[in-house]
Amino acid sequence: MDFTLTEEQQMIQDAAREFARSEIAPVAAEFDDSGEFPVETIRQAGALGFMGIEIPEEYGGAGLDSICYVLVMTEISAADAAHGTIVSVNNSLFGVPLLHFGTEDQKQAFLKPVASGEVNGAYALTEPQSGSDAAAMRSTARRSADGSYYTIDGRKSWITSGPVAKYFILFAQTQAPDGQSTGISAFVVDADEPGFHRGKKEPKLGIRASATCEIELADYRCPAENRIGEEGQGFRIAMTVLDSGRVGIAAQSLGIARAAYEAALAYSRERKAFGVSIGTFQSIQNKLADMKTHLEASRLLVLQAAWAKERSKTTGERNTLNASVAKLFASETAMFVTHAALQIHGGMGYSRELPLERYFRDAKITEIYEGTSEIQRMVIARQETGLR
Ligand SMILES: Cc1cc2nc3c(=O)[nH]c(=O)nc-3n(C[C@H](O)[C@H](O)[C@H](O)COP(=O)(O)OP(=O)(O)OC[C@H]3O[C@@H](n4cnc5c(N)ncnc54)[C@H](O)[C@@H]3O)c2cc1C
Repeated sequence: MDFTLTEEQQMIQDAAREFARSEIAPVAAEFDDSGEFPVETIRQAGALGFMGIEIPEEYGGAGLDSICYVLVMTEISAADAAHGTIVSVNNSLFGVPLLHFGTEDQKQAFLKPVASGEVNGAYALTEPQSGSDAAAMRSTARRSADGSYYTIDGRKSWITSGPVAKYFILFAQTQAPDGQSTGISAFVVDADEPGFHRGKKEPKLGIRASATCEIELADYRCPAENRIGEEGQGFRIAMTVLDSGRVGIAAQSLGIARAAYEAALAYSRERKAFGVSIGTFQSIQNKLADMKTHLEASRLLVLQAAWAKERSKTTGERNTLNASVAKLFASETAMFVTHAALQIHGGMGYSRELPLERYFRDAKITEIYEGTSEIQRMVIARQETGLR
């Protein structure tokens, strides 16, 4: 099997690496410290087409393939995982539902400005009482008697880019005018409309620059034409989107792990103890060998998942299994590799003067969002056994 990138994929990888190293890496520590959203570098990412990588050009995107998407995600996350998170939400969680389930008018009105990087998009599924068990959401969207709008009420938590985004893909339990439940539905919600409120910003362990907050909708009037797909189709839309999103998070994990591994490798050559480079000690060599092996396995799983995702665009087959396998393995690799890389740096690994401790803090989120590792194992086992 030939794993060589095409000329276009190679060019995109080079462009993303150059951008990440020259523009993002130098400001990563500063934004990690402040927890502020990195407006300027995200604007630059938009200008390069990285906020809508797989979105067709007519809808403001770069019209590239799924391999390009993981290459960009890996390079950006190797410089700063928080930027990777913001890029991933725009591309996958916001872009995919509109691209696959949106109407032409919705694509023009909402997808275009987000994919081009003009404004930020967000995805609001989780609620204070429902994360892994997303179907237990309590937010409601009651259809008006004439069917022209929905009244949305509810709270969403942990919304990435929530403090800055203009448009949100939001899921709620829909109700007919008489209060009868019609299942979960997806909507595009505009933060500038009355009834939309941003809540407190979450103080976080890692990916601190990817601002996260609660949002609350109270008597929010959402036009019926902003519903994505059919009423009751929302849960399927949410899960389809995660098949795509998880491939991006696997690539983010790979980027974090690669950055940590490269730092550890360089340090193992430079740092002397007992008169020799620490890289000559077998216990350090074993760590490096295990890190490299996990990293390479992750890279191949990420490419396989991206390939399956690209193929699903023409076959219509879902890429659930490949996405979960890649996300599970790459995220646990990110934790394993950043932990070992920090250890190889000794005391300096613990210092905030080096990025090792940031890689370590950032890696943890990849085992939690877009489905925890426990949930990925459940998805994989269900796919394999066919049992529920
Ligand atoms: C930084 C950050 C950013 C996020 N961004 C977004 C966003 O943009 N939009 C959004 O909608 N959400 C977002 N989330 C929410 C995220 O997806 C959830 O936190 C995640 O899905 C887990 O849900 P929970 O936190 O409610 O944990 P819970 O579901 O309460 O899980 C708690 C523990 O129980 C385990 N568990 C739960 N169910 C099972 C089961 N069936 N079998 C075995 N173990 C189980 C879990 O694995 C976990 O270990 C974000 C979260 C964080 C921390």
